[in-house]
Amino acid sequence: MTDRVVVVAGAVYDEGRLLAARRSAPADLAGRWELPGGKLEPGESPEQALVRELREELGIETEPVDRVPGEWPLRAGYVLQVWTVRLLSGEPRPLQDHDALRWLAPGELDAVDWLDQDVPAVAACARHR
Ligand code: C5P
Repeated sequence: MTDRVVVVAGAVYDEGRLLAARRSAPADLAGRWELPGGKLEPGESPEQALVRELREELGIETEPVDRVPGEWPLRAGYVLQVWTVRLLSGEPRPLQDHDALRWLAPGELDAVDWLDQDVPAVAACARHR
């Protein structure tokens, strides 16, 4: 399975709350919420891509902890994988791709309108905790 693009997303936890990010683009995704992340660049490991994406998108330094079991299809040829991530430093701010952030307590995970493909991923994160 080398012919597919892996998108890595982070389940960023701080004091038991999960970080959700609202997309500002593209138009068909704007307003929906996701676990922040992005595509691997050539030569990157998933963990390296995740640290880079979270730095670029949110201005935070993070440490991938472990992979959440499962894999979720995006558009053709793309799959979503999720890592649990520990916040090391910084206060997340929506620097690109997003226009709002929320920290969700365990009982609030369905309080935002997740992207369709993130719904099962977030459920897997909750089971994995
Ligand atoms: O952020 P970036 O554009 O690199 O993300 C690649 C694609 O992965 C986007 O089109 C986005 O729709 C998708 N994605 C997703 N769920 C996430 C993160 C990204 O569907 N949690």
